[in-house]
Amino acid sequence: MTELQQSILTLKKKKNAVILAHYYQEKGIQEIADFVGDSLQLSQKAATVDADIIVFAGVYFMAETAKIVNPTKKVLVPDLKAGCSLADGCPPDAFKAFLAQYPNHKVVTYINCTAEIKTLTDIVCTSSNAKRVIDTIPLDQPIIFAPDKNLGKYLIAETGRDMVLWEGSCIVHEAFSLEKLVELYKLNPTAKIVAHPESETHILQVAHYVGSTSGMLNYVKASEAQEFIVATEAGILHQMQFENPAKTLIPAPSKEDNTCACSECAFMKINTLQKLYDCLLSEQPEVLLSEEVIEKALIPIERMLAIN
Ligand code: SF4
Repeated sequence: MTELQQSILTLKKKKNAVILAHYYQEKGIQEIADFVGDSLQLSQKAATVDADIIVFAGVYFMAETAKIVNPTKKVLVPDLKAGCSLADGCPPDAFKAFLAQYPNHKVVTYINCTAEIKTLTDIVCTSSNAKRVIDTIPLDQPIIFAPDKNLGKYLIAETGRDMVLWEGSCIVHEAFSLEKLVELYKLNPTAKIVAHPESETHILQVAHYVGSTSGMLNYVKASEAQEFIVATEAGILHQMQFENPAKTLIPAPSKEDNTCACSECAFMKINTLQKLYDCLLSEQPEVLLSEEVIEKALIPIERMLAIN
């Protein structure tokens, strides 16, 4: 353990704080977190925290979700600029105008959206439970799905439901190159391709397994295969390798990058151990939401958590 990691743990204890980290955080942060998980696991965990402070090492909408489900806690983020192309690509005013075109539709939003978008939502979902959430909605009820069009297309194919989609996407998952992926697979023909449903349809079509972050971790653990090509943010490889030390994990190649095969979310990687230490020390930046937003945004999140 480094000196900085040790200092964070000492400060954390002194301040009665917990560190929640997403699987896409850098290795050093995952190593000292109290809990590491995907969006669904983190929102469930955040709701049960009884420490005074939650330091959320992830992107901003995730920290907002922690505040919504546990509003009496002080929620800190290492860097306010840790955004998300899905959340940022769905601004409230444009979304309101979009919803006005479909007044009879139920609104299902992927958890990767801002607190304000959640206030306009009937039910939230994550990639772990999206199919289950859609299945709770009566067949004759039209649905809007936002903000991820790729996850939406995947859900249309999986559930057979006809949904109106918001045109958003994840810059990381859209960056995978099918051509390079196929080339890589030819070189590793015994490998299994695993992909996150935020990836484009053509990537999902060649994958042996499509699922959420925790779903992919479970699949790799349970599979008898020894090699895997992983089409999601490269941060997950830390936990995957930890759980499967003897298996070979190969990050799926991206379209742009010819020097490095991995696909990293620049937003997630804005957080560093030093920023984590600084935010715990100064108790800034803090996630602040109005009572009205918390109250309204909690309703669709609780509907999702009840389904789980
Ligand atoms: S990987 Fe994509 S969906 Fe996840 S935080 Fe980064 S931009 Fe958002």
